Amino acid sequence: MVRDDGYGELGKRFEEYLLDGIPKLQEAGYNPTKFRQWIKASSGVSTAKKLLASADDTSYGFAKLWEKQKLDASVEFAVCLPWFRELFTDEELDRAAYRLTRHHFDLAKIHAVPVPDWCAAPTPELPPAPTYRQRVEAEEAVQRARPATSTALTTDVVRSTVFRSLVLQRAGGRCENPGCGHPGFHVIGRNEMPIVEVDHVHGLKEGGPDHPVNMVVLCPNCHAVKTRGQDTEVAELRKLLAGIARQRHETAMAGA
Ligand SMILES: [Zn+2]
Repeated sequence: MVRDDGYGELGKRFEEYLLDGIPKLQEAGYNPTKFRQWIKASSGVSTAKKLLASADDTSYGFAKLWEKQKLDASVEFAVCLPWFRELFTDEELDRAAYRLTRHHFDLAKIHAVPVPDWCAAPTPELPPAPTYRQRVEAEEAVQRARPATSTALTTDVVRSTVFRSLVLQRAGGRCENPGCGHPGFHVIGRNEMPIVEVDHVHGLKEGGPDHPVNMVVLCPNCHAVKTRGQDTEVAELRKLLAGIARQRHETAMAGA
């Protein structure tokens, strides 16, 4: 039974949404005991506001869900749903969206949530988010239009930030070396980004392209092995990563 928390009917709906989502959190392997206690002690809206106001950039629960790639079960996601937005201030909404996007969460997933029956006002149609393929092709066009800047004398290579972010997204922020010692290992840096590095399998200075087909995400350890490991180890790893980069790129190009 959901009580009135001062946020009216909509506040109750929000709380119901959070409580209904708890089995999904448990399925994802995270039992949000504290979260449930907070809701019980105050309300769903107050709990969400408390989490958003927290000095920590992200809560324990958020980090857990990020690890399991289930950020669509987070409070931040619920806050961003169009029919709950009026419960929150602009600052809270920005904060929720910022946390999600900083963790490479595709906010367009919000549009995949069916509009609840009780929601009378139709939510405005937003254009679908561009696909991996569309973003790659747009960036390729930008690069083709850019005048060539490198000459025999310049060694600076222009790196595409678009490709970098696409590759991070493609990898879900995880190390892509299948032999990685800690594939589930995640550390979030001060800037809220996972500490991983985007690597060009064939280095730019050896003529490898600055293109997702030649890029993988590596944890600092695997990156060090690839850069400073023993020759045979490095050669094998490069071969393996080259295949992974190509295969992941092709899959993403073929997918949505
Ligand atoms: Zn690794």
